[in-house]
Amino acid sequence: MNSRTPYQTFRWHSEIFDCYSNDIEQFERQLLQETARLQLKPRVIGHIDGWPLQLWQSPAANAGLPSVLISSGFHGEEAAGPWGMLHFMSELTDTIFTQVNLTLLPLANPTGFSKGHRFNRFGENPNRGYLSVGDGATPSLEGKLLLAHAQLLLAASRDGILTCHEDILSQQTYLYAFEPSKQPGAFSQGLLAALTQYFPVTEAAVIDDCPVENGIIFNHFDSSFEAWLVRSGAKAGACSETPAKANFDRRILANSAVMQQFIAGSHN
Ligand SMILES: [Zn+2]
Repeated sequence: MNSRTPYQTFRWHSEIFDCYSNDIEQFERQLLQETARLQLKPRVIGHIDGWPLQLWQSPAANAGLPSVLISSGFHGEEAAGPWGMLHFMSELTDTIFTQVNLTLLPLANPTGFSKGHRFNRFGENPNRGYLSVGDGATPSLEGKLLLAHAQLLLAASRDGILTCHEDILSQQTYLYAFEPSKQPGAFSQGLLAALTQYFPVTEAAVIDDCPVENGIIFNHFDSSFEAWLVRSGAKAGACSETPAKANFDRRILANSAVMQQFIAGSHN
């Protein structure tokens, strides 16, 4: 964590999308196309420097279906998450709405994304300060907006939350996972397997002071968005980490695959 600098900028070219990773105009254009095609319902949570902080939801919620939330783009330089979500959306049909109540938060940190740097333009970390865990972190502007919509987010993630990050220092993949059990179960293992189709699993035994076992950091409660939602009642949670030292399009495909697996694992 210490060697990740908040204002170092990163940019990669995507052959799949024919643009650079920080091209927010292109991202928003394609996002509007996909959300219109799927008839997803927008829920604007606020604005950051003119960019919407926005959720997209199933056209009609069905009380009998699991409610799941997928988020990405909390750290601006971890660009394969949001582009991976676009790729994931491009492969969806409206069959999805008979399987889950879907909520998407594609781009949590638009100002960081457009600059290709980690923190938002105010120098805040958008993935800290959601839970009081003694790290002294306070919520960012994005965090305050999300916390102000706690009820909506808790309902949306009741049966699961997946958030997609990248590790800028890594050539290998790993997963933070939360399940109400002593050991990672089918939920966590399925997500890790989706990632390891694309990248080798990390050999690290410790990452950011957390013990890693076979690629999984299990039930580690920090002050992140995902830890907050699990602590607040989500049945399961995960944070995927793709390696930002690997090819950008491959990272996009891995993010799309882990989102597909999350949905498949949520309604079976
Ligand atoms: Zn991150």
